[in-house]
Amino acid sequence: MQRIKSFDSGPILYLVATPIGNLKEFSPRAIEVLSSVSLIASEDTRNTLNLLNYSNIKNKLISYHEHNESTISLKLLEELKNGHSIAICSDAGYPLISDPGKTITQKAIENGFAVSVINGSSAFIPALIASNLPTQHFYFYGFLDARHSRRLKELEALKNIKDTLIFYESPHRIKETLDDLHSVFGPRNFSLARELTKIHEEYIRGTLDEVLNLDPNTLKGEMVLVVAGNSCEESYNDDKIIDELKEYLNQGITKKEAVRLVSQKLSLNKNHVYQLAMKL
Ligand code: SAM
Repeated sequence: MQRIKSFDSGPILYLVATPIGNLKEFSPRAIEVLSSVSLIASEDTRNTLNLLNYSNIKNKLISYHEHNESTISLKLLEELKNGHSIAICSDAGYPLISDPGKTITQKAIENGFAVSVINGSSAFIPALIASNLPTQHFYFYGFLDARHSRRLKELEALKNIKDTLIFYESPHRIKETLDDLHSVFGPRNFSLARELTKIHEEYIRGTLDEVLNLDPNTLKGEMVLVVAGNSCEESYNDDKIIDELKEYLNQGITKKEAVRLVSQKLSLNKNHVYQLAMKL
């Protein structure tokens, strides 16, 4: 067991969150810390330099990314051992959230140094809370594999999770990923949050079958996908839903009304029940 007070006078490894678009989200506390540490390790020094210039911060920068993480971590650890506090930041949002930072954090903790987080923006929290999907339990997945077959396998493994699912995706793969999400998950509710905190910020909410009709040229910029978990559909297999539909239809109730009644009765996604009704 290890118990470390963050501000007990020893050197600190600060994990500093930076804005995900809007520089006004750069907090006074982040500015204070980035001004005071002996060294800032950043994913892309040019990018971080822009941020530092924006807030008139002058400090030493060192490049720290997935390809040099292990070697630079040793240098950073030396800095802590010499009694100097240092900071890690990534291009946007929190380091270690689909971004580098894990190795030095691990080393600092193993060596008994304090690790303290300076809060700021992250892309998945706003995407989740404005999604209109359940927020009590959620599963942050980050990026799916770039390879189609592996992506499908990953989605199959996630298919029965009841919690709301959150994915990061890049604009050049968004169309394929939406197709794959639909093919594995069916017409679940989803929300796509695009260009958060920026001038073109947009939320697209609906079902995964609806999104297939969207013009991919309108899905530009950075985006987060939030997809409903399998909490409802899982309890009933399709045969049970079809039996329920048939029961209403046999009573002379219209398909539309039967879909509404079954969705309500079993607390199911209406679109899924509708798709099954169309097959009858
Ligand atoms: N460390 C970041 C965080 O805490 O959110 C995530 C970095 S990850 C390399 C970049 C991905 O985050 C993008 O591909 C996108 O999925 C998401 N992202 C970052 N900024 C965003 C924004 N302004 N709007 C929507 N998504 C964003």
